[in-house]
Amino acid sequence: MPENEKEQIVHVLDTSVFIKPEGRKFSDKVCVTTYSVMDELQSLESKVVFDMFLKKGMALMHPSEEKMKEVERGVEKLGDRVSKADVSVVALALELREKGKNVVVVTDDYSVQNLCSFFKMEFTPVATQGIRERVEWVKKCIYCNISVEEDECPRCGMHDFRFVPRKKKRLK
Ligand SMILES: [Zn+2]
Repeated sequence: MPENEKEQIVHVLDTSVFIKPEGRKFSDKVCVTTYSVMDELQSLESKVVFDMFLKKGMALMHPSEEKMKEVERGVEKLGDRVSKADVSVVALALELREKGKNVVVVTDDYSVQNLCSFFKMEFTPVATQGIRERVEWVKKCIYCNISVEEDECPRCGMHDFRFVPRKKKRLK
């Protein structure tokens, strides 16, 4: 694969990109989102921003039913509350990754980030983009709800983990 093609990152956008002012900086990148995300936008302002992304070349896609179901099974395991639009974003990202694309999901939603982690899908936050500070994640077995350092849960031996942000200690 040529170097420039390898570095072409496809940004799969969730609703937070169109709602938060910081999201606009992604409009110059290679972007794609789903019809469900479009349907979920409520405010006039977010719809205007959405149109601006479309004019700049953002692609609009439907993930396959198959991928939607795969992600829904992940949602059931994790027990998080996510919208249909959230599911569609992760499903589309997985689909594009399978087609060999270099994909990153752009989202500020912890549940969506969790879902990405579950599927080992790369993600980046919207509002904190560019800030050096990174969220530290704690890996927990979704069955036993204990923190796990190893590749498998020492209690039940399973490999299904959720990632929760570690609470930051406030510096005085
Ligand atoms: Zn376990």
